Amino acid sequence: MSRVKNVPELFGSMVFNETVMQERLPKDVYRKLKKTMREGTAIDADVAAVVATAMKDWALSKGATHYTHWFQPLTGVTAEKHDSFISPTDNGGVMMEFSGKELIKGEPDASSFPSGGLRATFEARGYTAWDPTSYAFVKDGSLYIPTAFCSYTGQILDKKTPLLRSMEAVSKQACRVLKLFGKDVRNVSATVGPEQEYFLIDRDDYAKRKDLIFTGRTLFGARPPKGQEMEDHYFGSIRPRVAAFMAELDEELWKLGIFSKTKHNEVAPCQHEMAPVFTSVNIASDHNQLTMEVMKRVAQKHHFICLLHEKPFDGINGSGKHNNWSLSTDTGENLLEPGKTPSENAQFLLFLTAVIKAVDEYQDLLRISVASAGNDHRLGANEAPPAIVSMFIGDELQGILDAIESGEDYTEKVKTKMDLGVSVLPDIPRDTTDRNRTSPFAFTGNKFEFRMLGSAINIACPNIMINTAVAEELRQFADELEGAQDLRTALTELIRREIKAHKRIIFNGNGYDDAWVAEAEARGLHNLKSTAEALPHYTDEANVELFTRHNVYTREEMESREEALLEEYYKTLRIEALTMSDMVREEILPACVTYEGDLSRAVRNKKEAGVAGGMEAELLGRISELTEELYNKCRELDSVVAAAPRAEAEMLANYYHDMVLPAMEAVRVPADKLEMLVGKKYWPFPTYSDILFYV
Ligand code: ADP
Ligand code: MG
Repeated sequence: MSRVKNVPELFGSMVFNETVMQERLPKDVYRKLKKTMREGTAIDADVAAVVATAMKDWALSKGATHYTHWFQPLTGVTAEKHDSFISPTDNGGVMMEFSGKELIKGEPDASSFPSGGLRATFEARGYTAWDPTSYAFVKDGSLYIPTAFCSYTGQILDKKTPLLRSMEAVSKQACRVLKLFGKDVRNVSATVGPEQEYFLIDRDDYAKRKDLIFTGRTLFGARPPKGQEMEDHYFGSIRPRVAAFMAELDEELWKLGIFSKTKHNEVAPCQHEMAPVFTSVNIASDHNQLTMEVMKRVAQKHHFICLLHEKPFDGINGSGKHNNWSLSTDTGENLLEPGKTPSENAQFLLFLTAVIKAVDEYQDLLRISVASAGNDHRLGANEAPPAIVSMFIGDELQGILDAIESGEDYTEKVKTKMDLGVSVLPDIPRDTTDRNRTSPFAFTGNKFEFRMLGSAINIACPNIMINTAVAEELRQFADELEGAQDLRTALTELIRREIKAHKRIIFNGNGYDDAWVAEAEARGLHNLKSTAEALPHYTDEANVELFTRHNVYTREEMESREEALLEEYYKTLRIEALTMSDMVREEILPACVTYEGDLSRAVRNKKEAGVAGGMEAELLGRISELTEELYNKCRELDSVVAAAPRAEAEMLANYYHDMVLPAMEAVRVPADKLEMLVGKKYWPFPTYSDILFYV
């Protein structure tokens, strides 16, 4: 492995960034491109042509031969189709060409991506459009151009476009609110730092398990004698093979301009985390998609497999992705940073109130934004926040909000009169706000940390929801306050009213406690336990109104997304069920039968030899019982899958949740018991002990 010598030099070396643009573009072209990037306006054809040529020349100097429009379809992973730069010349040779038209627009067709029915009813072809707000880069010999993916009739087919629209929405409304505080801000950016968890397991183990190959998670596996109870892996020293992986990962990410910052071992054995420095959310989203891909590729080089599934091992912590979110002005002000002056305080409290109201009113959307078959195994389990959305704000802020609500002085901790216009907020110590690790949506000093995301998710979805919901509350606040006679009074009144109306969403206690479920129900909070239950709320009237009002989605786009997500859900379960059945019939039962054969022979031999003692016979009896059970449960699973109705997505999602999942669980029980009884040399694939523990 090569050792990095000069990180600043390496950083962004494969990115067509500011420095490269300034170097390679004529001044006026650079200025026009920057204007487009800043204001999201359309780009002139002649500017595009110059940029395209400069990009191509730069890409060639980095060893690229191809270019690709890189986009984020509804599948959750990124998509790319590569074209080479070659263009035939008259003398039978080639030259390397790349036109402005090719830069701006691609026609991958790509009609096989899920569209949730949108393209069946409209136009089948899709096209990609360059997103100049995200830098192009070179990877694996190709120039990657970040793009949006749309249908010819303008319907959006990707996750990037609505993210950009939601950023625009929240920026517009936040600027209106800031104007009330006398600030003329042109742009407010949603910023995100996603902490990415992952497992690294040995490639040879992986290759022997069909469940990992087909579904990304283990469908069988008894608990090993040791789990994570000793907590000796968390922040433990990193073993050399993993350290080598992490070093190369950093290097590759830095080359792509990704701010990989923190790395450590996580709670579960073989589990690790990488956290980047935050950036604006469209970039963070591109970068996180790239990070996941690079993780997988670099892992292979080190003979590992990187598992990004939300719950690869039952009984062992799954992997999540903490979405740290805030709003930041183009003048560098973090709007969720508690202020130092009375007016900053008021401004902070207003933005805080907007987020609280947004999370309360759009709980269902936040839940939906993280819903997937894989994440269902995490939410509500011990390591992840429950499926109930609630917020943690910490004792200090709670004290302040209580005081505002009741109109009393806030004297408990700060001994200053809490009047929005007069006194200063206490410094809010970071450590007291970050203590609660069970909250789904926690205020951590100067940002919110949304913790329900599964590790495999595209962070665009939850951020589309947060941005748009917050935009809506800011819109309402701006409407009200812009017309106010006396801003200070109106502001205090508004905050008091909204806190009173939405305080039910705030829960500073232990989210893993069973009592919370009952309490949340009494408060009227949603508890959407599964993806099948959550997704149909996507197109509830209030949600359609939200997204259409802010031009993020049309109703048709939402309906199509709901359908695509439901389809993805039941298809995932179907693949899991089929894989499970396959492993039972092809691998587990034959292994058990071989062992049973050996045991029977041992029983017979003993009898013939006249040896007393019957443990072989007893063991044979137990195994025989369990194999019968396994065989029968597997047949039941097969027939439940075969009996799936021909129905619309919502009904199928429910069917798979209500019928197929329990049938799968019933298959797993005898299989896991057998794993513990059947001799190691008979068992057909590596067990949890083999995979998760190493010498
Ligand atoms: P931890 O949560 O482990 O205590 P930090 O609080 O330092 O770690 O940061 C976690 C993540 O939050 C990092 O990715 C960091 O860049 C990000 N972050 C910090 N400030 C902001 C902000 N204003 N907006 C969005 N993300 C932020
Ligand atoms: Mg964190």
